[in-house]
Amino acid sequence: MNILDEFDTITAVATPMGMGGVGVIRISGSKAFEIIEKIFSNPNFERTKFKHGYIMENGSIIDEVIVLPFFAPNSYTGEDVIEIQCHGGVQVIKNILNLVLKNGARLAEKGEFTKRAFLNKRMDLSQAESVADIIHSKTSDFAKISMKNLSGVLKERINEIRNDIFEVLSRITAGIDFPDDVREPEYDYLISCFENIISQIDKVLKGANTSNIFRQGASVAIIGKPNVGKSSLFNALLSLDRAIVTDIAGTTRDVLRETLDLGIPVTLVDTAGIREDEEVSKVERIGIEYSKQSLDEADLVLFIYDASKGLDEDDREVLKLLENKNHLVIANKADLTDKKDDGAIYISALKGLGIEALKEELKNKVCDINPESLDFVTNTRQQECLRKARNAIEQALLAAQLRELQDLISIDVKSAILALDELTGELITDNILDNIFENFCIGK
Ligand code: GDP
Repeated sequence: MNILDEFDTITAVATPMGMGGVGVIRISGSKAFEIIEKIFSNPNFERTKFKHGYIMENGSIIDEVIVLPFFAPNSYTGEDVIEIQCHGGVQVIKNILNLVLKNGARLAEKGEFTKRAFLNKRMDLSQAESVADIIHSKTSDFAKISMKNLSGVLKERINEIRNDIFEVLSRITAGIDFPDDVREPEYDYLISCFENIISQIDKVLKGANTSNIFRQGASVAIIGKPNVGKSSLFNALLSLDRAIVTDIAGTTRDVLRETLDLGIPVTLVDTAGIREDEEVSKVERIGIEYSKQSLDEADLVLFIYDASKGLDEDDREVLKLLENKNHLVIANKADLTDKKDDGAIYISALKGLGIEALKEELKNKVCDINPESLDFVTNTRQQECLRKARNAIEQALLAAQLRELQDLISIDVKSAILALDELTGELITDNILDNIFENFCIGK
């Protein structure tokens, strides 16, 4: 998509294609009003007033609709925008869309409405990206935090950091450009500024891992010997009976996956019991292989043993496999014993005891920061820009500590600013822009 071609008039269906109460067709661009006036029975639009009427073609009624006019620049895209609310049937929506196309609009590309909002400075890039996040949210918490991004929380934080960097750069530059009038800043002053900027960037990056988990979800595998209660725990966490619970060892023959909303999306994987037994059936062995693979892929492993029997040699073998993995040790069937070892989380999957506390622990283990305390989220592109800025300021800090020429220091400071400008979209290439909006759907 070429930025220069973008200011023609575009249209798309903004609601999912299928049957529904209403369907919404959007038109954005300088010809939006001209087009609607040709196909609508009741034009003469006024600001903030919707109109009821009929979409007409060659004298016949296509649908009864409501039309919402938005006059530039007070619209989503910053251009003239028309939204047609019609009946939500696939055919009727197609008929209206075709009519709009015939009358001078072009079909919008993915994310093109939001891209225009960005290009017309209705929002910065971090806000535009949060629109896709809101649409793709897998949990209600993520939708809420993405909404904060849309209102500009991340943008403000980045601008504060950028202003601080810019202030240091201005002082260095003034000292270099006007050596007779302005003294170059003290090195100790530079050092404390750079340290402060690094700690501000670190604060933004602190929730990076949790932000990523919000997007991709965390994969959590349940492992343990047969019959310790893996399937029961799986069900207790999900509050359903998807996994078959039996008292015959080796019933979970394949890997079950379900998604759980713990604020963050968690994909729970119930694996076949890990054991190296000559006697196990072929089907079960395949399940065992799966469980080793799930183990490698998991962000967190829940190792479960039978508390009434205590840890035996086999359990310890499995625990050894987990030495370098993020894991929690869970003692199940706590209802059958009063014994408590240190370090394990005691639960009863059957009776539902300790499950809520386990969910909390699980969340703490996969997130670097409590998701509820997040004010904004960052995506990997934004994190990359922040790391670039941080590295540049670290270089500047090192140079200041070595009392290097301030001319040289200013080069690193400038590149930190460029990295932040890339984050907010002040400085961005067509390619990066296309990549970002590729992730949107048509009509957004
Ligand atoms: P898996 O083979 O590890 O998946 O184990 P299951 O979840 O199929 O459970 C094996 C047996 O232990 C079943 O009879 C369950 O009812 C029983 N069980 C599971 N959790 C508990 C628990 O917390 N307490 C008690 N008393 N029995 C349990």
